[in-house]
Amino acid sequence: VDHNLTYPVKPDAFDWSANDCYPALYSKAPEQKRVVEFVDVGCGYGGLLTSLSPLFPSKLILGMEIRPKVQEYVLQRILALRAQNKEKKVDESGSFQNISVMRMNAMKFLPNFFEKGQLEKLFFLFPDPHFKKKKHKARIITPQLLAEYAFILKPGGIIYTVTDVRDLHEWMVKHLDAHPLFARLTESELEADAACVDAVCNGTEEAKKVERNGGTKFLMCYRRLEKSRVG
Ligand code: SAM
Repeated sequence: VDHNLTYPVKPDAFDWSANDCYPALYSKAPEQKRVVEFVDVGCGYGGLLTSLSPLFPSKLILGMEIRPKVQEYVLQRILALRAQNKEKKVDESGSFQNISVMRMNAMKFLPNFFEKGQLEKLFFLFPDPHFKKKKHKARIITPQLLAEYAFILKPGGIIYTVTDVRDLHEWMVKHLDAHPLFARLTESELEADAACVDAVCNGTEEAKKVERNGGTKFLMCYRRLEKSRVG
């Protein structure tokens, strides 16, 4: 699918002021270097982006989605929300100028887009389960990819995972628990982040589908540590 994906050779080679990104915020204050801090990997139809946008008006939030039609749908959804709210100031909650979507293979190109320590939140919500054992290496959480996620997350940054597939949940927990740069969020840390955790568990299209069908949602959140737990 990715033969016609375009991606920068390095993060500062990418133009975040371009039309499909955050044009209003950039044209308002071009000198202010604003960077994406939240990334929703495999954002699907964009429910998390639209839930988080008014909650975190000062943050640039990006969805990455590999399916062209789905990405186009989310883009049109964002443009419509911006148009409906154009009386709002560009950096005001509810202007929807701080969310954007990109068609991208997030398993291949994340370090091309984000500097070391740039991201504060990284979301993996209802990722494709890849049930068969032979396909497990295609999962979005693997030891190799966790090394990349640790690189682009700032110390204190958070990875959120939710799935309704128990086997995938156990897989993600196993690899995240084993990684020396991640630790599970405590109950009180989760409470401090309740608005975001609620959006993660209930805000996406897949979350709503699981809810309607009476499925179970498994949530796990991990903090990027400052220093390795081992050695
Ligand atoms: N997170 C959304 C939600 O909770 O509603 C969508 C969940 S859906 C089951 C998984 C999504 O991940 C699909 O839209 C799929 O196209 C996308 N996806 C799978 N592999 C991807 C990759 N390597 N890069 C970007 N998106 C990917």
